[in-house]
Amino acid sequence: MIRTGLIAEVRAVVGEERQRGKKIAIVPTMGYLHRGHLSLVEEAKRDHAFVVMSIFVNPLQFGPQEDFGRYPRDLERDSALAAEAGVDLLFNPPLEEMYPEPMLTLVEVKEIDSVLCGRSRPGHFRGVATVVTKLFNIVQPDLAYFGQKDYQQVQIIKRMVRDLNMPLDVRTVAIARAEDGLALSSRNVFLSPQQRAEAVVLNRSLEEGAAAIRGGERDARTLEELIRTRINAESSGEIDYVEVRGAADLKEVTEIEGPVVIAVAVRFGATRLIDNKVIEVGTDV
Ligand code: AMP
Repeated sequence: MIRTGLIAEVRAVVGEERQRGKKIAIVPTMGYLHRGHLSLVEEAKRDHAFVVMSIFVNPLQFGPQEDFGRYPRDLERDSALAAEAGVDLLFNPPLEEMYPEPMLTLVEVKEIDSVLCGRSRPGHFRGVATVVTKLFNIVQPDLAYFGQKDYQQVQIIKRMVRDLNMPLDVRTVAIARAEDGLALSSRNVFLSPQQRAEAVVLNRSLEEGAAAIRGGERDARTLEELIRTRINAESSGEIDYVEVRGAADLKEVTEIEGPVVIAVAVRFGATRLIDNKVIEVGTDV
């Protein structure tokens, strides 16, 4: 595995691989790798691509009161895990390489960036869309892999790629979970043992919501209430949102008729966890 922090070196290495006829894949991450990140690499390997993983904690997507400073970092461990998973090129740029001067150009995907996580994290998705655009321009991948865990993020990236005619395919990878169902996240390390135990309620309440839909429930507000009640009953977590929205466009729904996503965000102390489930009403149910 090649490891570099230099854009010019990424371009040189990737350019050679492309000339050899290899498809190029990118797996953007903020590091502190877990099995979820590695499952994105596995998918890229399955597609026989030359896999570039970026590890960059992007200040542009953190609000002033958020956890940029204390976001967990362990580059040596990440590097070993990435190499073992088959990453071909690890791109770990220092801040000055990505942002040598203040950014005057920003990428904004309107409307779908201001619901769900975007409502409690203003500017977050502008930071994401901007850094992902930079990474796409640096690597010029044929394929990009994102986790369903960050459902809104994938929808925003897909829309950006369509709107701006970016020449690549965006692939979504299923949520990797711990044995008890908690979605893996770099931020899980911040949970106390009690919070960690309580956090299973996110997935459990989503399962309960999915079961209710299978049982015939079609009222979005009733479903949200069911999930909220369960979270409040079984945890000390403070709900940021519980929402049922259209799976493709993240629009509000009242009556569930087509594919929907049930998305939740819950704060445990300073740690904010998210999870979701997509339910294909009409095909699955
Ligand atoms: P992050 O490092 O948290 O920015 O995540 C980097 C990529 O890994 C994003 O595309 C995430 O959606 C994805 N990811 C994070 N956690 C998981 C998970 N539990 N399962 C699948 N993908 C994940």
